[in-house]
Amino acid sequence: MPESFVHIGFPSRIVFGPGSLDRVAGEVELLGISRALLISTGSVRESADLIELALGDRFAGRIDEVRQHVPVDRAEAARAKAAEVGADGIVALGGGSAIGLAKAIALTTALPILAVPTTYAGSEMTPVWGQTADGMKTTGTDLAVLPRTVVYDPVLSSRLPLAITAASVANALAHCVEATWTPKADPITEVTAVEGARALREGLLAVIEDRHDLDARGNLLYGAGLAGSALASAGTGLHHKLCHLLGGAYGLPHAETHAAVLPHVTRLNASAVPRAKARLEAALETTDLAVGLFDLFTTAGVPTSLKSLGLTEHQAKDAAHSFAASGVENVVPIDEQALTDLLLSAWSGDRPRAAEHGPSSSTTYPPGAAGRGSQGVAR
Ligand code: NAD
Repeated sequence: MPESFVHIGFPSRIVFGPGSLDRVAGEVELLGISRALLISTGSVRESADLIELALGDRFAGRIDEVRQHVPVDRAEAARAKAAEVGADGIVALGGGSAIGLAKAIALTTALPILAVPTTYAGSEMTPVWGQTADGMKTTGTDLAVLPRTVVYDPVLSSRLPLAITAASVANALAHCVEATWTPKADPITEVTAVEGARALREGLLAVIEDRHDLDARGNLLYGAGLAGSALASAGTGLHHKLCHLLGGAYGLPHAETHAAVLPHVTRLNASAVPRAKARLEAALETTDLAVGLFDLFTTAGVPTSLKSLGLTEHQAKDAAHSFAASGVENVVPIDEQALTDLLLSAWSGDRPRAAEHGPSSSTTYPPGAAGRGSQGVAR
């Protein structure tokens, strides 16, 4: 029997499958939206054109430019546009940036959102919003921003370049791993996270072989949805908070920052949740979670150092200092020195050292996937 727990699940309707893009207009109608504001990432403009056409009279206006971390001036301009076109709902097509801008509008207007994610960031499954002003990222939780309907179409994400795919999967894996040690983690978020991690690994290794493999893209969207759902219920902890600080203060790219930081936070925290650690290791087919994540990211070609993302060593130390000063709660007690060590390891991109008392680490990948610039990957 599981220990006593409280689990909060979030209501959303999920439409999943290749070709689901064709169902967006019908789902908009089901939500009762008669004037939809379409927000899309520039790189999926052609799919946005199809949605605009399918919406017909229900199309009210469009925003094609979005930025990561939702700069506050963009949020204000988007709210003004929604008011100007008389929108009574939003369709957000793209990655976390497009969905994030839709959430910024919903936060002040409660307009319903239909999300069509094309990356694996998982924002579509969460009631979490974020906004950046003066180098500070603020996040909050509000049910008004939770997309009411999510349409997952693997065909859309099959056009996502491999580098963006791999970094985005690292972001999703971060949701899965951190969902096992936050104060709100529970047995339901744990199984969700473990199944998400399994699907993400399987999908990632398959798209490395064939970027257009629809089954693999489906696995990745399924894993990303589970990852987002685990994040929504378990909330964020040390890892996400560090990444938000780095993204807000130094403008680092969101998904790649997760890839560089996650193995090192995992080395620190995972031993505090031994059951989840063992389950995640089984799902990722590794004997050492921190090393397994690092090896998976390097195999997929994701940058694993903050240095390569443009952070200076001085900024890494500064970030540790300001993070420590903000008062950190973590499953394992952590002080400024430990934070500095962690961020300097992530800065240099070192492969996490093997756990002190654990078995020697190994990670198994299928033939063909291993060996592409990966470090220490066992065949
Ligand atoms: P993103 O939305 O900026 O997309 C990354 C890149 O992929 C962009 O250049 C985009 O144009 C491109 N792209 C997207 N779909 C494509 C496609 N089908 N084909 C080709 N290119 C495509 O980045 P992201 O990593 O998806 O999201 C990051 C943002 O989301 C951050 O601001 C982060 O804070 C936020 N986020 C929020 C939550 C939440 O729960 N609120 C969760 C995860 C991420």
